[in-house]
Amino acid sequence: MKGTMPRSFFYEVPPTAGLPPRFGDLLPFSTPSLADQAMRFLGVEDVQVECSGTAALVVALTALQRQSKRTSVIVPAYTCPLVAIAVAHCGLKLRLCDLAPDSIDMDASMLAALCDEDTLAIVPTHLGGRVADVDAAVACARRVGAWVIEDAAQALGAQFADGTAVGTRGDIGFFSLAVGKGLTTFEGGLLIARAASLRAELRACSDEIVPADASWEFKRTLQLLGYYAFYRPSALPFVYGWPRRRALRAGDATAAVGDDFPLSIPLHRLGAWRQSVGARAFARLGEFQRGLAETAQRRCVRLAQIAGIDVLRDGAGASGTWPFLLLLMPSREARDAALAELWTTNLGVSRLFIHALPDYAYLGAIVAQAEVPNARDFAARMLTISNSPWLDEAGFERICGVLENSIA
Ligand SMILES: *Cc1c(COP(=O)(O)O)cnc(C)c1O
Repeated sequence: MKGTMPRSFFYEVPPTAGLPPRFGDLLPFSTPSLADQAMRFLGVEDVQVECSGTAALVVALTALQRQSKRTSVIVPAYTCPLVAIAVAHCGLKLRLCDLAPDSIDMDASMLAALCDEDTLAIVPTHLGGRVADVDAAVACARRVGAWVIEDAAQALGAQFADGTAVGTRGDIGFFSLAVGKGLTTFEGGLLIARAASLRAELRACSDEIVPADASWEFKRTLQLLGYYAFYRPSALPFVYGWPRRRALRAGDATAAVGDDFPLSIPLHRLGAWRQSVGARAFARLGEFQRGLAETAQRRCVRLAQIAGIDVLRDGAGASGTWPFLLLLMPSREARDAALAELWTTNLGVSRLFIHALPDYAYLGAIVAQAEVPNARDFAARMLTISNSPWLDEAGFERICGVLENSIA
């Protein structure tokens, strides 16, 4: 209850709008299954369930490797470090494409220049729920005979202008069910493909390289139960707010956003109970996301009134998902000034990935140095505002006030 507790102390807005859990989700044996729910939600014929988005990408890359001797994978220079780790896991060469200025999309001319006879796959990425330009990647890929894998890890539910789901326009698409990406089985992934023949390859590859592993499943089961216990504003300070503030006091931004991933990728089956939990939660996802979109549209309009701020939105007709609002500030200085005030508050302001891929020291062995000025500029000027329903209007207005001051 407001007023009985020091709200600022036992209240924390998560950085992304996770679907609020309900204890009823924890009942076993959901029908329809997770795969069925996902098929219906995405409007596709088949969905393959994996233990994470990264595992889904590993299965996809491995299946393609079995059909081709090509060895390089083109990814945006600003993306999740797990993508680089997955490419390295498969023994493939990572080729970084810079972003277009002020955009999540890959720079078209650099992409065209990078594509060659050795390109196995191009990975356009629907970052932050925004709908990326997949057609450009498909055009480049077709020219050289490469595949397109849509990274829709952060965009389950986003749609292209024609109403089809992101993930369906490339040859393969994958989604993440990790904590913080909306609907979660604590860790989980969904894998789809257009061609029935490719779907069969993905399935066969997964059967071969992904074992059942009771100890991983046990660990993830406990973590999912912990998530159901703690994913509420009054409990999030314990598991998210205070650890983050401690990391920030220590000057460790990478730890604060959880960018320091292990270099080894767990590959195991997603257990039946966790699948059932995901399936039950799925029933609420569409309506939840419609509410988020409404809030986001309203708040985008408010933010656009602040001169100098660029809020990332979708191209004509496309409708992305809104886990958070992704802002580009006019300069690194303005961004840092805003974050100096906001990052340690409980209002759900944060950053997405801290660096462009070449700038993580811990990835040094798997990511080569590259000239990617736009990706670096994006990392330097970006911040995110949670679109969680637990960020109320007063909190959002406080954020807007700080942003105004930090630009002035
Ligand atoms: C989270 C994420 C992944 C990996 O998904 P996991 O389920 O966490 O393994 C891949 N790409 C992007 C853009 C992501 O945000």
